[in-house]
Order: sequence, then C-alpha cells, then structure tokens
Amino acid sequence: MIHRTIPTWQTRSWQDELSQLITEPEALFTTLKLDLGHLEAAKQAANLFPLRVTQSFLNRMKPGDIADPLLLQVLPLAEEFNQHPDYSADPLEEAESNPVPGLIHKYRSRVLLIGAPQCAINCRYCFRRHFDYQANSPSRAQWLDALSYIRSTQDIDEVILSGGDPLVISDRQLAWLIDELSAIPHLQRLRIHSRLPIVLPSRVTPELVNILTSSRLQPVLVVHCNHPQELDSEVGAAFALLRNQGITLLNQTVLLKGINNVAETLIQLSKELFKLGVLPYYLHLLDKVEGTTHFDQNERDAKGLHMAMLAHLPGYLVPKLVREEAGATSKTPV
Ligand code: SF4
Repeated sequence: MIHRTIPTWQTRSWQDELSQLITEPEALFTTLKLDLGHLEAAKQAANLFPLRVTQSFLNRMKPGDIADPLLLQVLPLAEEFNQHPDYSADPLEEAESNPVPGLIHKYRSRVLLIGAPQCAINCRYCFRRHFDYQANSPSRAQWLDALSYIRSTQDIDEVILSGGDPLVISDRQLAWLIDELSAIPHLQRLRIHSRLPIVLPSRVTPELVNILTSSRLQPVLVVHCNHPQELDSEVGAAFALLRNQGITLLNQTVLLKGINNVAETLIQLSKELFKLGVLPYYLHLLDKVEGTTHFDQNERDAKGLHMAMLAHLPGYLVPKLVREEAGATSKTPV
C-alpha cells in the first residue's frame, strides 16, 4: 500500500483534465498560434475522425510550428482523404477475431479486452480509428460475457487491456475488472496498453498504482511513446510512481513518416525512455488503415533506421522492428 501525498503536478484531477480536452480545430489553432491557412482542411478531416488532445500533451508542442512532431500526431490533415488499395478500415481483420463483444482473441495465449470506447487523445495514425466501439462499448454486462469466455478458455494466461484507452475508466470500474480477472486461475499476467501516462500523466495516482499492484496478476504497462519530446518531468514522475511499485514498463513506438523516421530521434527516444525506467519493446510499422497513407515509412528505410539503432545502442535498448499481419499467430519481425 502506498500513501497519498499529492505531487505538485497532480493538483488538478485527471478527470477534470479529461473533461476539458481540446476537440475543436479552432481552439487548437488559436492556442498554438498556427497558420490559419491549414484550418479548413483540419475541420474537414476532423469529420473523418474527431480531434481530441489533452492540454498536457499540447503544452509540449512548439507554438507556431505546424510540423511539430507531437502536433502532427493529433492534427487532422487533408491527406487523410487519400485513398490507396492497400489501406482498409480494418487492416488487421479484428472483426474476424471478436468472439464476444469487447473481446479480441487473435493470439493463442493472450486475449485483448476493450477497456474503454475512447482515448484521451485521438492519434491520427490509430489502427482502430474505424473500429466499431458502438458494438464493443464496454459495460459490466459485456465484461461478464468476456470474463466467462476467458474463464472457459484455459490456454489464455494473459489479458491485455486495450482500447480505446483502458485507463480512462474510473478507478472503481478498473478495480472491479481486475478483481474479476484475478479470480480466474489460469491467468498469470495483466498487460495494459495506455497512452495516458504520456498524454495525461496526472492519471497515474497512488490509488491507480495500488489497484494495479494489489492483484495476484503480474502487471505490465506498455506506454506508447513516439518521440522524445513527449517525455517531460511530469511523465517522468508518473513513470517513477509506477516503476517504484514494481510495475514493468515497456514502450511501443509506431514508426511515423514526418514524426520519428530519423535515426537520431529513435536513438534518443530509447535512451530517454531507459533513463526513466522504460524498456523499448517494439518499433512498429504502420498498420495500413484508411486515412493514414501519409504516415507510412517504407520497409527498406525502416530496416535502415533499425540498423542504425543497432549500430549505436546496446541490444537491450533496440526495440524489435515488427509489423502486424491479419491472421498471424504473433507480431511478424521485419
Ligand atoms: S491512444 Fe492508442 S487506441 Fe487511442 S487513438 Fe491513440 S493509438 Fe488509437
């Protein structure tokens, strides 16, 4: 049990911050003093996938810079209307692996539970930007079906809470869900994929850490950080709170053209993450989801970047270069 002292960066509640997301392109442009010539395109593209960003993430962007690597992760662009035959709404064919609502079972020993139907930010490259959250919107009733599926499938030893972002749900809901999962004897590990420690670090409270560490399941938290500029002192403090209670922290980066497709950036990211106690885990090629063609980094250049990382970093700081393929039994090394 850890005791409650409120760090200075947590004086505003995370729920307040979550209720004050920036969702209007005008507000984003005004706050960051961006060139209004790009505003109309942003409004149009926001109709394809809404704009959502936290103030905390926005604070780390450079005002006036339309090419800021954090801004480009959330800024709706005209390029999202580009069509390409290789890109589809469901490139991983998750609908084929959805035996009960809110649950995706693609890999034999792991199952993915949709923890929440939304995120604190909408990443423009998101592979679930067209996902049917309406039909997979988690509720206790749906979770009961998902839990009975997991209970009856002995091969599963790890549950992955994903999203939407599973940490946007309340502590009460999360504690209930984790209690239910830990009562299933064949489960060993609980893995949570969340961008909240990065984009809303105030979410990492002592209460949350207690919930994650009080169950018998081994907790692993995969934070999704794409660029070293995302790592500030508040994020570092959130990682420390998690790590100091024995939660394994891993990072998964998506390789994104125009954002992090430079060897020095990726090398710096690995070093900075490790300083904060996070191990680089995957460097992921883009999933070919409609609306994201402009982020795609071709495979040959991706391999070149990975080789540069191998040449400059100790092996444990080089993430595995992978892609996800529909129907594959695990991620595919590139
Ligand atoms: S946090 Fe993850 S699930 Fe949510 S929009 Fe970003 S990439 Fe998609």
